[in-house]
Amino acid sequence: MHLMKPLENVALFDMDGTLADYQKALQIDYNKIKSPNDLQLIDFDNSQPKFVKERIRLIRNQEGWWRNLPKYNPGFEIFEIAKKLEYTIMILTKGPSSCPNAWTEKTEWVNNHLPGTKITITDDKGLVYGKVLVDDYPGYIERWLEWRPRGLVIMPTHKHNKNFAHPNVIRYDGKNLIEVEERMKEVILR
Ligand SMILES: [Mg+2]
Repeated sequence: MHLMKPLENVALFDMDGTLADYQKALQIDYNKIKSPNDLQLIDFDNSQPKFVKERIRLIRNQEGWWRNLPKYNPGFEIFEIAKKLEYTIMILTKGPSSCPNAWTEKTEWVNNHLPGTKITITDDKGLVYGKVLVDDYPGYIERWLEWRPRGLVIMPTHKHNKNFAHPNVIRYDGKNLIEVEERMKEVILR
């Protein structure tokens, strides 16, 4: 049997809003094609009218859209800490059911920007083991923590998660990298 590194200190990294700047790319592309009378798309929630959702779907389904997403630096800063602390790193990303091309292009994105990093693309992040999850989306964070009462979550700060608080979650706002590193060290030691 092929011997792999023991699955102890696993850190899981989300892509959109964590390592890839999904929100910015979508805003730019949406605002380019909106009519002058439409409101700007400035943030993301599920309360948008149907026609806005449909436009977003068309944007996201363009060939190459996911592959060309820009990097999001706060996520990369946390990634470097995880590497330094010798975590076993795994990308953990949701494969959108409405965008089959995203499943392929997300893999290409990881190969381009983080070559050699392992990747899990899933419908349900709650199924995947790790000691640390780095993710920006409260829904996935809650789901993952449901069965991991001691799990640590690092949450890159965005407008869409500004009201979310949980005792296992620390926000990363680009200024508290030392605190993030301390917490990630504690998890390894326990
Ligand atoms: Mg995300």
